[in-house]
Amino acid sequence: MHKDIIWQLKYTYLCWEIIRIMKAYKIVGAGLAGINLAWHFYFEKIKFVIVDNKERSTARAAAGLINPVVFRRLNKSWMADDLMPYLHSFYCKINDVLGKELYVNLPIKKVITDIENLNDWGARNNDEAYQQFYNEVEENYNSSVLAEYGLGVVNGSGYLKLEEYINLSLEFFKAESNTVVEEEFEYDKVEGEIIFTEGRGLLRNPYFKYLPLNQTHGETLLIKAENLNIDYVLNKNMFVLPVEKNIYRVGATYNWEIKEPRTTEGAKAELLEKLSQIVDCELEVLDQWAGLRPTVKDRRPLLGTHKEHKNLHVFNGLGTKGVMISPYFANIFLQYLQGKRSLPQDVSIRRFDHLMNE
Ligand SMILES: Cc1cc2nc3c(=O)[nH]c(=O)nc-3n(C[C@H](O)[C@H](O)[C@H](O)COP(=O)(O)OP(=O)(O)OC[C@H]3O[C@@H](n4cnc5c(N)ncnc54)[C@H](O)[C@@H]3O)c2cc1C
Repeated sequence: MHKDIIWQLKYTYLCWEIIRIMKAYKIVGAGLAGINLAWHFYFEKIKFVIVDNKERSTARAAAGLINPVVFRRLNKSWMADDLMPYLHSFYCKINDVLGKELYVNLPIKKVITDIENLNDWGARNNDEAYQQFYNEVEENYNSSVLAEYGLGVVNGSGYLKLEEYINLSLEFFKAESNTVVEEEFEYDKVEGEIIFTEGRGLLRNPYFKYLPLNQTHGETLLIKAENLNIDYVLNKNMFVLPVEKNIYRVGATYNWEIKEPRTTEGAKAELLEKLSQIVDCELEVLDQWAGLRPTVKDRRPLLGTHKEHKNLHVFNGLGTKGVMISPYFANIFLQYLQGKRSLPQDVSIRRFDHLMNE
């Protein structure tokens, strides 16, 4: 009798779990897009299940930098005024929930190249519309850093420890019983509400592969440099990011030909050559990673719902600045799914409807 009751309870629990999972949103892909969307669902108490095949090479290769400035034109990066305050409060909240500093505030210091560049930077620093991000030019006192015209300091910058952020978030969601399934998603089983966040995996997705997603291959190195001693992100045509005492991540390369996440000797040589132009010290290469950025020609993300299959959604195209872009747009996407707003035209997949039947 007693055993029967236990079995009945177990059976009822199992049925409830199956119903719960069937009713939950399915998020396909645990990269930055999927995880930041999942956090928004979590805070809104919306059920979700994450399906991920554990490839995750992009997150491993990426430095996770947050830079509100475009150095080439001394401009602000796209939507920086809106994206920066949102991402700051969002990632600080996750730091608190996970009890770890995965989002780190750190100034970027850009090597000033000549007098003209120095004057232009000064003008930005004096301009009210820019000085929130453009701080003053500092003199360089570090003999290992080659910056005779000084270093332009960026405010509000930082980085996200991307791979750890994803792994700890997944552990957290598992523990909170928002199910995480580690397997390849099968595209012939598309029942319920599904959000595809597969990065470059989108190219295999029969429902959304018409979208013009490109793969931009990139590589970073991990180096040891005992005499470098910098506690900021150094930048000039590349970045040098301190991650531990005497250990730095440097990058990144851009290659439009390679379509696999494999490392190359060419990228290593390119990064070491660029590095030799901004630092003068002994260094040793410890590791090298490669990944593929999911980029779109117009440099805007891809958000929306399939025109015919209304239960299938996509959140992709985060490109080269996913850490900056994804929190703000995850929030917009959630509000859109809840029927509270429409999507801005420049990020909506509707802009590519004409490619659907080509
Ligand atoms: C070298 C390099 C440096 C970078 N540096 C920065 C930087 O400094 N700052 C910044 O903001 N961005 C940077 N980026 C870009 C950033 O990494 C991307 O914007 C971001 O990772 C994209 O996230 P995503 O979730 O869209 O895709 P991904 O990170 O690729 O995640 C997709 C996930 O979906 C899974 N998946 C795919 N298909 C399936 C399937 N069928 N079934 C189950 N799972 C599936 C994959 O395994 C993966 O886990 C860099 C990228 C590279 C390569």
